[in-house]
Amino acid sequence: MVKLITSTTELRTERQSDSKIGFVPTMGNLHQGHISLLERALSEYQTVYFSIFVNPKQFGPNEDFNRYPRTLENDVKLIEETAGRFPNSKVVVYSPKDPKEVFPENDNQTISVHGLSTDLEGKIRPGHFDGVATVVYRLFELIKPDTAYFGLKDYQQYLVIRQMVKDLALPIKIQGMPIIRELAGLAMSSRNQYLSPEQKQASLLISRTLKEVEKKIKSNLAETKTYINETLKDPNWDYLEMRDAETFSPDISQSKNITVVAVYRMGTTRLLDNIQVSR
Ligand code: AMP
Repeated sequence: MVKLITSTTELRTERQSDSKIGFVPTMGNLHQGHISLLERALSEYQTVYFSIFVNPKQFGPNEDFNRYPRTLENDVKLIEETAGRFPNSKVVVYSPKDPKEVFPENDNQTISVHGLSTDLEGKIRPGHFDGVATVVYRLFELIKPDTAYFGLKDYQQYLVIRQMVKDLALPIKIQGMPIIRELAGLAMSSRNQYLSPEQKQASLLISRTLKEVEKKIKSNLAETKTYINETLKDPNWDYLEMRDAETFSPDISQSKNITVVAVYRMGTTRLLDNIQVSR
């Protein structure tokens, strides 16, 4: 059963009737990446809350908030199809009709995870991770999930949320989920539809580069750094960096698990990707 809720008052009432729940926060325009989180949540909980909310606080003034794809009807269909494969399941879709449902007027609360939020992606998008942490905290407060599912596609975001939950001692398990890719290797993203067919084809260079970095890390770290520096001569890379997967420190000399995080600009679209490497 899938139930669509568009007001916070209704959400609060609904939540009172459910005990243990999983939660998947999204901005909608669903693809298989989002659905993989829902499937995992439904395999662990009979009741799953799924939010669809394009959060204005995480977009910068010149970013794509207004043109971000909003496809609620189709999203609900996809959720229904997925829920249909889990007998006796219940999915509550919370899609607030107005940002005021989530952030009351004159609301001054900001959650900021210092350090992580101003590093790398956060440096390029000032305020972005504060917007993310603030909305996720707010949604956690409303929905009170036992487990929340996040894609590792947004690796720095996943670390920000994990840190927030730890710092505030929230009783919520954060489950990271693997990146779902198209057959050719491009990480699925709602923003991929901004790409022309030629740009989409050219974007395969991102996953190919990450695979190459993975191979090199396993054989020789010094060579990997040279390869990365050569690659970065293409000015369309916003970054391509090796970080410790746990601490996000750039010092990876002792790291067992490394995340290679990348953003490549294809026209006006920024494409995020990463790969996890153990050694
Ligand atoms: P978004 O709607 O872009 O805010 O994403 C909602 C959630 O889905 C986040 O936890 C993302 O990391 C996750 N997600 C987005 N794309 C993918 C993907 N290709 N594979 C796995 N998870 C994803």
